Amino acid sequence: MSNKLKTILIANRGEIACRIIRTARVMGIKSIAVYSEADVNALHVDMASDAVEIGSAVPTESYLNIEAIIEAVHSTGADAVHPGYGFLSENTTFVERLEEENITFIGPGPEAISKMGDKIESRKLANSLGVPTVPGNSKPIQNLTMANSIATEIGYPVMLKASAGGGGKGIRIVFEKSDLKEALEVCSSEAKANFGDDRIFLEKYISNPRHIEIQILADKFGNVVHLGERECSIQRRHQKVMEEAPSPFLTDQMREEMGKNAIKLAKSVNYYSAGTVEFIVDEERNFFFLEMNTRLQVEHPVTELVTGVDLVEQMIKIAAGNKLEFDQKKVKMSGWALESRVYAENPETGFLPSVGRLIRYREPTTSAFGTKKNVRVDGGVNEGDEINRHYDPMIAKLITNGKNRDEAIKHMRWAIDEYYVRGIANNLGFLAAVMANPRFQAGELSTNFIDEEFGAKFIPEKTKHEDIELIAIIVGAVNFMLAEKRTHVNASKIDGQICSRDVMPIKNEWVIEIGVRKFSIEARRSEKGIDVIVGKRKCCVETDWRPSYPIFAGRVNNNPISMQVEYNNGVYKIQHFGLVAEVKVMSPLAAEMLSRLPKKSVSEQTNKFFSPMPGLLLSIDVEEGQHVTQGETLATVEAMKMENKIVSEKNGVVSKIYLEIGESIEAGQLILELK
Ligand code: ADP
Ligand code: ADP
Ligand code: MG
Repeated sequence: MSNKLKTILIANRGEIACRIIRTARVMGIKSIAVYSEADVNALHVDMASDAVEIGSAVPTESYLNIEAIIEAVHSTGADAVHPGYGFLSENTTFVERLEEENITFIGPGPEAISKMGDKIESRKLANSLGVPTVPGNSKPIQNLTMANSIATEIGYPVMLKASAGGGGKGIRIVFEKSDLKEALEVCSSEAKANFGDDRIFLEKYISNPRHIEIQILADKFGNVVHLGERECSIQRRHQKVMEEAPSPFLTDQMREEMGKNAIKLAKSVNYYSAGTVEFIVDEERNFFFLEMNTRLQVEHPVTELVTGVDLVEQMIKIAAGNKLEFDQKKVKMSGWALESRVYAENPETGFLPSVGRLIRYREPTTSAFGTKKNVRVDGGVNEGDEINRHYDPMIAKLITNGKNRDEAIKHMRWAIDEYYVRGIANNLGFLAAVMANPRFQAGELSTNFIDEEFGAKFIPEKTKHEDIELIAIIVGAVNFMLAEKRTHVNASKIDGQICSRDVMPIKNEWVIEIGVRKFSIEARRSEKGIDVIVGKRKCCVETDWRPSYPIFAGRVNNNPISMQVEYNNGVYKIQHFGLVAEVKVMSPLAAEMLSRLPKKSVSEQTNKFFSPMPGLLLSIDVEEGQHVTQGETLATVEAMKMENKIVSEKNGVVSKIYLEIGESIEAGQLILELK
C-alpha cells in the first residue's frame, strides 16, 4: 500500500499556496494555511481547510518565522510542510528543524539544499562531474587584483554574481576593466544586504543567451527522471516574466543531453523531490550549468501542461516515501504551453513595483476557442485585496496551451485581453505587446529580448497593432448597442406612444478617432448581430456584450476576439493586443467641425517631479536654486529593495524641494519642482 500524508501545512502565501491547496484537495489531503496579520482575508486562507495566524506583516516575523510555523504544525496536527518557493523553501535550518520535530518536509533533504544553494559550491560540483559550467572561477573573490586577473583571463564582458544570490539579485555585468572596481563593491554590498553573505564570484557574460532549464523529479530510492525543458528567456532585471515549454531553440539531442546532465547532478547530491537545473545557452547552442533550484519553481505549470504530470502531487507522494510511478521512457511532451507572470508593476516606469488595492479583479475564464480547456490561471488574490509592499509583486500566473506554439500564443492573447484588473498598475498590456511582437512569435528569443525590443520603459502608444480598423469596428458595434439602449429607454419614456424604433431612429453613423487615424463607420442590426461597415470592409459582429461589461468578447466575421472597452465621458478606453488607446466617437458633423479647429500646441515637459512609487526618499541630489540638465539625477526613492532614480526631463533650475531625505512617501507625492 502506498504511503499517504493526511494533513499538509503550507508555509507560504499567494498563488503558490493556493496552487498547493488545490492539489491537496484533489488528493483528499487536508490543507492548513498560515498567514500574517496582513493576510487575514487572503485567498489562501479561505481555500485551506484550516488556517493559523503566525505573526505580523513583516516576513521575518511570519512567513520566515521557523518556530511559529513549527508551532502551527503541532497545534493543527499536520504531518508535513510544503514550503512553496521563496521564503523558507531553500532554508536548510528550517528543513533540519522539521526533521528534529518529526515533520515531513515536502522537498529535498538538507544536504542537497545546502550543496546546491550555494552557487560557488554547486559550480565546483558541476565541474567535478563534467557538467559544463560558464568559464569563470569557483572561489570567492578576495580582492580587486584577483578579480582583475580572472576577468582578464576569461575576457570581458564578465558577470559578477553573489554566491548566495537568487531572484535575479546580486548580479552585475561588467563590460570593461575600468568598471570592475565599482561593480565589485556594489555587488558585494548588495549581496551582504540581501543574503547576509558577501561572497562573489565571476564568470563570462554570455552574450545573447537563452535561459533554458530542466525539470527533474526524483524519489528517495535513487530514481531520477527529467520532464524536459522550459525556456525562460523573457526576463527583466534577470528575472523571468514569461516562460514556455518546450523551448523553440532545443533539438531532441540537446534535450537528451541537458536532461542527462541534470540527472547526473541530482544523483550526485542524492536529490529527491522536484527540482530544476538551470542552464544558460549561447547562440551556438552550447549549454552551461547556472544553478540548481531545489524547490518547486514559479513556472512549473508549463511543464505540467505539456507532460500531464502534476508536480505538486508527485512532490507529496515522494515526500511520503513512495517510489516514482513512471520512468524516463514514460515521460512524453506534447503540445505547447506558455506562462505569463502577472505582476503588480508598471512597465511604463521601467517595471517599478506598484502597491495598492485591486479595486476590480477578474481572471479570464475562456480561451479563444470559447472553452475553458486551454487556459489556466494560478491566482492568489481576491477583488478588493491590497497588494502589500512586504511581499512579491506577482499577482497571478496566466498559463495557456495548445497543440503548437501558435495556438498557445493565440489563447494567451485572448486571455490577456480578458483579464480585468483596475486600481493597481500591472503588466498585462506589456504582456500583450510581447505576444504581439513578431520576433517573439518567431521564437527568436534571448535574455536581452525586453531591452532590445522595448527599451528600459514600455510605451503602450508605440505598440504596433496589426489591425486598428478592427478596433474601430468593435467600438462602432459597442457604440451602436449603447445607442440602441438609450433610444429604447427614451422611447419608452414617451407617454402614450408606441415604443418602436420608427419613433426614435437610432443613430448609426459615426467618425471614430483612434490616435491620428479616423474611420467613418456605419452600424446596423442584422439577424446574427451587428453589421459594421468601414469603407469597403463589412463585418458581422456577434457578441453577448452588455453595457457595463468591461470586456468585449465575441466574433468578428467568425474570428474570436476579446478586448477591454470602458466608456467614460464620451471616450472609450480600449486595451487590445498591448495597445492602450483612447477612442473618440463623434457624429460626422461634430468630426467635421472639430477638424476645422486650430491644433493645440504640444504640452510642455513637466516641471514637477513626483514619486513613482511608495517608499523611502533615499536621497535628494540637488539643492534649491541649482541648475540641472536633462538626464541629471534629482532624487532617489527606495522600495521593495530597489533604488529608483528620479531623473530630470529638461534643463532648468530647482525652484522648490518639498520633502526631506529619509521621509516615507506615497506614490504620486510631489518631491520637487523646477522652473
Ligand atoms: P523561479 O526561479 O522559480 O523562476 P524567481 O527567481 O522568480 O523563481 O523567484 C521566485 C521567488 O523566490 C521570488 O519571490 C524570489 O524573490 C524568491 N527567491 C528566489 N531565490 C531567492 C533567494 N535566494 N533568496 C530570497 N528569495 C529568493
Ligand atoms: P538567480 O539565482 O538570481 O536566478 P541565475 O544564476 O540563475 O541567478 O541567473 C539569473 C539570470 O541572469 C539568468 O536567467 C540569465 O538571464 C542571467 N545570467 C546569469 N548568468 C549569466 C551569464 N554567465 N551570462 C549571461 N547571462 C547570465
Ligand atoms: Mg536562477
